[in-house]
Amino acid sequence: MGSPPHVAVVAFPFSSYAPKLLAVARALATAAPSATFSFLSTAASLDRLRASAAILGNLRFVEVSTGFGEDDDDDTPPWRRMELFVNAAEAGGLKQSLEAASAAAPGAAKVSCVVGDAFMSMAADAGVTWVAVWTGGPCALLAHLRGDALREDIGDQGMYDPSRRRRRELSMDAFLPASRGDELLTSHRGLGSFRVRDLPFGGANASGDMHSVMDTLLKRMAQRLPVAATAVALNAFPGLFPPEISAALADALPNSLAIGPYHLLLGAAAPAAGDPHGCLAWLDRQPQRRSVVYVSFGTVAAPPPDELRELAAGLEATGAPFLWSLRRESWPLLSPGFMAAAKGGLVVPWAPQAAVLRHAAVGAFVAHSGWGSVAEGMAGGVPMACRPFFGDQRMNARAVEELWGFGVSFEGGRRPVARGSVAEVVAALLAAGGEEGDRARELRAKVDEAFLPDRGSMNNFRKFLTRVLVVEPA
Ligand code: UDP
Repeated sequence: MGSPPHVAVVAFPFSSYAPKLLAVARALATAAPSATFSFLSTAASLDRLRASAAILGNLRFVEVSTGFGEDDDDDTPPWRRMELFVNAAEAGGLKQSLEAASAAAPGAAKVSCVVGDAFMSMAADAGVTWVAVWTGGPCALLAHLRGDALREDIGDQGMYDPSRRRRRELSMDAFLPASRGDELLTSHRGLGSFRVRDLPFGGANASGDMHSVMDTLLKRMAQRLPVAATAVALNAFPGLFPPEISAALADALPNSLAIGPYHLLLGAAAPAAGDPHGCLAWLDRQPQRRSVVYVSFGTVAAPPPDELRELAAGLEATGAPFLWSLRRESWPLLSPGFMAAAKGGLVVPWAPQAAVLRHAAVGAFVAHSGWGSVAEGMAGGVPMACRPFFGDQRMNARAVEELWGFGVSFEGGRRPVARGSVAEVVAALLAAGGEEGDRARELRAKVDEAFLPDRGSMNNFRKFLTRVLVVEPA
C-alpha cells in the first residue's frame, strides 16, 4: 500500500476567499487524519488565517510568492496585485509551488490533488487531479458558465457609460441601455428569476482595471471548470434551489457538489473565530431574543458616506439594539457623536460573524449580500436587508428576496438606503410573525437537516472527500 495522499489546498489570497477555503480544508483534514494537507497562500494571507483559526496537525501552511516585489506591497493597487499574482501562477508558479510543497513535507507523498479556489483555475494544467471550491453565489457561477450566451444576448461591447457609474458600484447598469436592466433572463435556463441588471459581470469596484482582471479570471475559470475539474464544491446545501436552477447547474457543471454552508462543515458547535471586541459577550447580555440588528458589508464593499449616515440614522430611529461591524476607515464618516449617542449600539471593526448570526439575540441582518454572508444568514435563520454593490451580490440579493423570501433589497428609487426606509425594513424584519423571519427560520431548519449524518451536505461532503483522496496511478 502506498503512503497516505498529500493534498495541496490552493488559496486565492485576496479579500475573504482564503478563510472560506480554509473552512473546507479544515473539514477535509479532520475527516482524513492520515492524509497530509498543505495549505498554500501568501505570507500576509497566512498571518491573517493564523489569527483566526486553530490549525490541525495534518494541515500545514505553506507560503507562496505574491508574484510581485514584497517591498512595493503598499504602493501596488489591489487590482494590480491580483493580476501579478495570477499571472505568476499561470506562468508556472503554481507548479513550482506544488513541487515546493511536496519537498517541504518529508515523509509525505508527492501532491496528488489540488483542492483550489475556483479562481485558481490554472490548477487545470498542474498535472494532478483538480478539485475546485467555488465560494460565491451558485447562481452567479451559472451565469459565468453561461457567459458567452449571455453576452451574445445582452452584448458587452461599447455599452459602457462611465457617467452612469457610481463610486464602487460598477454593475451591469453601467454597461446597459437603461431599457434592458429590468428584463428577466427567461430565455436562459435556470436564470429566469434574475434580471439583466442582476448579472455578475462588471467587476469588483469603480476601477475599470479591476473589472478587466476579474473578468479575465472568471472567463478562464468558466472555460476550465466543466472540462478539467473532477469535482466542484458549492457553498450551498442540496435542495436549496428550485428544481429548474438545480437542473441547470447540474447540466452546466455535472461534477458540482453542494457541501455547504462551508462554515458548518466542522459542526455548528466548533469554536468561533476570535472575538477581540467582545461581540458574543455583548449579545449574551441582551435581554430579548431576536432583538438585535447585525450590520456588516463584508471585507471589501464600502457604502458611500451619505448612505452610511442614513443607515446610522435609520438604526437609531428603530430604537433596536445594533451590532455594526464597520471597518475603522469608515468610522470618521459617521456623524460626530454617533457612537456615543447611539443608545444600545455597539460598533466594532470586526465581529465573529458566523457565530453572531447563530446567536439567539440577533433578529435582523443588514448586509451587502456577499455569498458568505447570505449563507451565514440562512444558517442562522436571520432575515436580511440586502444592499448589493458588485460581483455576485445583486444576484444573491435577488435570490434572498425572490427565491427564498427571507429578506428584502435596497434598490435605488424603489427602496433607497434612506433613514425612513431603513427603519421600516428593519422593524419589519424584527417583527414577531413577520414573513421574512418565518422564511429565515424555515431555511435554518433545512440547513440543520442537511448536516445530519447521511443527509444532504454531509453525503455530498463524503463524495467530495473521495474525489480529493483518489490517487491516480502515475
Ligand atoms: N466577516 C466576519 N466578520 C466581520 C466581517 C466579515 O467574520 O466583521 C466574514 C463573514 O463571516 C464572511 C466573510 O467575512 O464569511 C465575508 O464574505 P462575503 O462573501 O459575505 O463578502 P466579501 O467580504 O467576500 O465581499
